[in-house]
Amino acid sequence: MTTQLFVMLLIGTVLVVYVGIALTAWIRLRGTRVVICPQTLEPVSVTLDRGHAAVTAVWDAADLKLATCTRWPLPVDCDQACVSQIVQPGYETRPAAIAAHLFEGQRCAICRLAIDPVDTASLPPGLLDPVTHDVVPWNEVSPERLREKFRTRRALCANCTLAESFRRRFPDRVVDRPRQSGITGSAEDGEPVGATRNM
Ligand SMILES: [Zn+2]
Repeated sequence: MTTQLFVMLLIGTVLVVYVGIALTAWIRLRGTRVVICPQTLEPVSVTLDRGHAAVTAVWDAADLKLATCTRWPLPVDCDQACVSQIVQPGYETRPAAIAAHLFEGQRCAICRLAIDPVDTASLPPGLLDPVTHDVVPWNEVSPERLREKFRTRRALCANCTLAESFRRRFPDRVVDRPRQSGITGSAEDGEPVGATRNM
């Protein structure tokens, strides 16, 4: 092996390692995060400047700074102290993880079945407003309001979330089946035409 080839291989290996480090930081820091704003002590949704983090990760620990925040563009004197929460061990800031924790062990308010673990690849469970009967899948709730919504809404499984959402959007295409007792179903009993539900 010539010296020139050795140097080229060495440079190539170093480049691959650096790109790998940057790519790892880029992927690890993706997505919206929910943190508690140190100034207001209220939850906010933020995203990180992943380009900056990836570049700085090559030389040292990734330098974290915000790209967006739901408080912005308020004229606040923000020192971005919240970013420490994102890398704090045991402090979950990803919306899907927060939703998974909130739905854990819950039963559906309609069918009473245990709600499956939250999986971003599957249909999302949702939340039912007991007053208005509005239904919203968890992933359509503003991430920073997830915990608050959970305090005032009732948990629904993914199937009931889909069925009730359909009912709200297309009420003329939903039929109510009477209960076995002969009482006509309430708003919670309806389902899309042709759909089946285990009650
Ligand atoms: Zn259900």
